[in-house]
Amino acid sequence: MRKFVIMGIQGSGKGTQAKLLADDLDLEHISVGEIFRWNVQHHTKLGAQVRRTVATGRLVGDDVVEAVVRQRLTDHDWNYGFIIDGFPRSARQAEFFLESYDIDGVINLELPDEEVQRRVLARRLCTQCGLDYNLIASRPQVPDVCDVCGGRLAAREDDNPEALAVRVAEYHEQTKPLIEIFQRKEFVASVDATAPVLEVQTAIRTHFELPPRSPGP
Ligand SMILES: [Zn+2]
Repeated sequence: MRKFVIMGIQGSGKGTQAKLLADDLDLEHISVGEIFRWNVQHHTKLGAQVRRTVATGRLVGDDVVEAVVRQRLTDHDWNYGFIIDGFPRSARQAEFFLESYDIDGVINLELPDEEVQRRVLARRLCTQCGLDYNLIASRPQVPDVCDVCGGRLAAREDDNPEALAVRVAEYHEQTKPLIEIFQRKEFVASVDATAPVLEVQTAIRTHFELPPRSPGP
């Protein structure tokens, strides 16, 4: 059984790396963000609570996040282990989590702030069909026009340099104490996330002596 925590700022490819690892090693990928989105889409009580909080521009409270994660982990469909993303968020949660779940390691994807800016500010969204584009990695054929529906592409409202700078600062403030706690237990793999996706994946596996990715079909 393998249990990992993955940490990384927006644009670091955290979701992609978690999925690559989870799919291949049969780990359950537990993403707090995805759990919240599912609840919002399905109009659950939790979804309504999340929606209200986000509408006021605040983060969902630690207690709510903790309750959601506890619930998700008691479902226990993770026979081979899990990789969790979006938790823990506070020093207290980190201590509790490490004691309760015997975590194998913490993957910390490192991306310089300038690169975060470059990647996130290159994101575009079709205003008509919602398809994602990225002016670095997946450009539309015609500038500012959706390949699929011809709709106009636009940046998300909160993907502007000022709002992003605030999010980057918040991220560092929130994660620094967590990384310090994890480092005391000496099992943090800090990986350079500027490298190509598969190289980052290989670096993670090498660090934890995991088997290399099985070749595709
Ligand atoms: Zn479109």
